[in-house]
Amino acid sequence: MIRISGADAIPLVQRVFRGGDIQGSRGYRAHHGWIVDGSEPIDEVVLTVFRTPHSYTGEDVVEITCHGGVFLGQRIVELLVGQGARPAQPGEFTQRAFLSGRMDLCQAEAVADLVQARTEASRKVAAYQLEGRLSERLRNMREQLVKACSLLEIELDFSEEDVAFTSRTELIAMLKAMKTEIESIVSSFDRGRVCREGIRVVIVGRPNVGKSSVLNCLVERERAIVTEVPGTTRDTVEDVLDIGGLLFVVTDTAGIRESEDVVERIGVQKARQALSAADLVLLIFDGSEALTDEDEAIVHTMREMGKREIGVINKVDLRVKADMKRIKAWLPGAPLARVSALKQEGFPELIQKIEEIVLADGIPHAGEVVLTRVRHRDSLSKAKAAIERAEDSLKMGMSQEFVVVDLREALDSLGEITGETITDDILNRIFSEFCIGK
Ligand code: GDP
Repeated sequence: MIRISGADAIPLVQRVFRGGDIQGSRGYRAHHGWIVDGSEPIDEVVLTVFRTPHSYTGEDVVEITCHGGVFLGQRIVELLVGQGARPAQPGEFTQRAFLSGRMDLCQAEAVADLVQARTEASRKVAAYQLEGRLSERLRNMREQLVKACSLLEIELDFSEEDVAFTSRTELIAMLKAMKTEIESIVSSFDRGRVCREGIRVVIVGRPNVGKSSVLNCLVERERAIVTEVPGTTRDTVEDVLDIGGLLFVVTDTAGIRESEDVVERIGVQKARQALSAADLVLLIFDGSEALTDEDEAIVHTMREMGKREIGVINKVDLRVKADMKRIKAWLPGAPLARVSALKQEGFPELIQKIEEIVLADGIPHAGEVVLTRVRHRDSLSKAKAAIERAEDSLKMGMSQEFVVVDLREALDSLGEITGETITDDILNRIFSEFCIGK
């Protein structure tokens, strides 16, 4: 589908369309006919006409549904460009929708997330955000803040008469409630991030315990996702899986050594880096051998980092020589799984343990507000800090102007999320992450 948006969209397409008068067309109408280059028929198409403001961008829009195909699509786009159209920038349609007030900024971001979603969890959080639940909560908070500000400002105008239009106790109660609400939204961030970006799993263990074999078994069993993860640097040693509707980005630290390491040290450093970014660590032991100092050293390194972990005892098809009690003592409280990568046994149980540990909070349910972006979390935290300052000023009986300054700041911070208060730089950055045509 080729989309043309803007005041000239309809007359422009009319010039290359044979099949009726679309300039006289009402909105939401489909027209069947041909795209033509002079007398040359290019493709048989259906045009859908949208009239401002009832379109995705809010402008006049024509959508050309053609037969598809790379050459054909390009041929039609070139024809349109020849008539004065210009190729859209990444995310430009959505940016225009935002600028014309069809959606707010966090909804626009949700469009990008929805397009890039590769699991149920990431699709859900994006869909709920596009639906506008977060926007609605933010709008309510902003309305209350605006009201409070204006009442306090009226008081200021009458300051000589020393009147109070607003009850200080009510105002403090309102700010308290808002603070609690912000806290509850912010607390959803870890879950939201995991839903949107996936869970980083790192596989560690000394050489030859079977790290790569375990990863291969996971890849074969679970739905492996082939395309690139947006926003992450895809390493050759990463595999991307869909487990229970969540995205798992699994790094095999053995691969880091083998594929990139000429100097062993670099491999170790990379492994440490991977570890420090991990949400979950699979610590692999070779069950068929006695535990070694190296096993212990790896356990210590990992424990220092305080990561969630699962101990995986591999090669249980052979006679077990590893001291299980010692492993339990090394990893107090961590789930342990026994597998054989060779025989492909024990993996359903391992997967179940992974799910228990990371899906404990569950994937969000319809309508739930879940925060997915650092940008949103930071703005909410700033708003909360400003609200706390306003609350303190009120409690100390300071004069209105101090309170108003902080309330305005809270307003601005919340407005950054919805895009009411935002700089062009940030806007451009957000939309540049979109793909073209969205
Ligand atoms: P890594 O260095 O930790 O990645 O270990 P690999 O996955 O390369 O495995 C090391 C060796 O152990 C290979 O020869 C594998 O065939 C063998 N191996 C891996 N998993 C098992 C297993 O479950 N049972 C047995 N018997 N051998 C295994």
